[in-house]
Amino acid sequence: MAETLEKPRSGEDIGAPSRDLSPSDDMTPYEAATYFFHGAADRLKLEDHMRAMLASSYRELAVQIPVRMDDGSMRIYRGYRIQHNGARGPYKGGIRFHESADLDEVRALAALMTWKNALIDVPFGGAKGGVQCEPHLLSGAELERLTRRFMSMISYIVGVNRDIPAPDMGTNAQTMAWMMDAYGQKYGYTPGIVTGKPVELGGSPGRDAATGRGVVICTREAAKRCSINFRGARVAIQGFGNVGRWAAEIAAEEGASVVAVSDVGGGTYNEKGLDLEAVAKHASDSLSVNDYPEGEAVTNEELLEVECDILIPAAIHGVIHSGNADKIKAKLVVEAANGPTTPVADQILNDRKVVVLPDILANAGGVTVSYFEWVQNIQQFQWELDQVNFELKKRMRKATSQVFARADEGDLPLRAAAFDIAVERVAHAAHIRGYV
Ligand code: NAD
Repeated sequence: MAETLEKPRSGEDIGAPSRDLSPSDDMTPYEAATYFFHGAADRLKLEDHMRAMLASSYRELAVQIPVRMDDGSMRIYRGYRIQHNGARGPYKGGIRFHESADLDEVRALAALMTWKNALIDVPFGGAKGGVQCEPHLLSGAELERLTRRFMSMISYIVGVNRDIPAPDMGTNAQTMAWMMDAYGQKYGYTPGIVTGKPVELGGSPGRDAATGRGVVICTREAAKRCSINFRGARVAIQGFGNVGRWAAEIAAEEGASVVAVSDVGGGTYNEKGLDLEAVAKHASDSLSVNDYPEGEAVTNEELLEVECDILIPAAIHGVIHSGNADKIKAKLVVEAANGPTTPVADQILNDRKVVVLPDILANAGGVTVSYFEWVQNIQQFQWELDQVNFELKKRMRKATSQVFARADEGDLPLRAAAFDIAVERVAHAAHIRGYV
């Protein structure tokens, strides 16, 4: 039983990033996520063996995905399913189809899911999947073949009580329908194997809007803390996909003025507020919001620096860095995307007293309603939309007030408070289960 290693274990010896890394913009997503974890582990004085276990993934599956293209050629894609920690329940986390979805990025996202699920207090561990591809360059039929093959290859480690995928960047309800069907062909009809499905296949009412709705719920709570009146507040949002678009629409419905939105093709800004329906129609006709005629075209970088009260990055990681953190004009940054702020930018924003609502809290609405969907599938019963939204609001508000209380208690930034709560819960579950 005696510990015979010469150096204290931190996870490095099993492939986790060093606990001694200093914050920099060059950190990989996994290094950045682990940097925030080590901060919590230090504050909580976690024992070395617990730190080592939580700094690295439990299981990592990398698969080859051969796909027949429409022109008859064959392409081989790389896919991953990473299970970070299952102390609190079955692994849970989305599937990303994006060119950046490599092993490092998926590892980072899997770890963030562990902390997010613990913080929002759903009975899940954390996982993430990804396929390194450019989904917008694939036809519907190619995407379907890719998705089915990927599901078939990861089917050995997923399961209703083992690991339940969901949508993320580049995937949607249709992707989940194909995944459910591919799994069902092997194991029989199993709606609870994925969440974020179409409602007619056992999906939950409100799941499509849930992440964006959750973003707005906690943004409103944080706005009070920053003395921002949400009604009339100017909001800029990077990313106009599932999360960004719903967040924009719900924020506008609740009285905020959405002054800027963007997609991969660039952004549009109007200081008087955008007509979101017209922007969406324009984007569907011309492929991007960038050249919307009633707005000024801005780049994705410029969008982050526009005059606004609340900035919501809702696209990709690492967009707020040391080069722009001191140019951000918003008083409140809400991380709807996963990992949008590098550790060094996080420090700059903290020093400038810009409040950052961290990703593991801000975008937890999606997994919360995924949890409700999983519960409904197990019960074979469908809830009403009002019930879903009521329960979502209750959980988001509770987690937000717990984070605020912890931050006040320890005089900590919100991210540190959120990580402390989450890591403490997971470490406690791991300990009483006898994991380590
Ligand atoms: P999506 O694919 O529906 O939309 C992504 C948006 O980002 C699109 O508007 C796209 O054009 C834009 N985008 C892509 N690459 C970009 C780039 N390089 N620069 C600027 N914009 C770019 O994805 P989504 O589901 O809305 O996810 C967005 C973010 O939210 C991701 O970080 C994801 O991990 C996170 N998230 C999503 C969910 C969910 O339920 N979908 C839940 C939690 C967190």
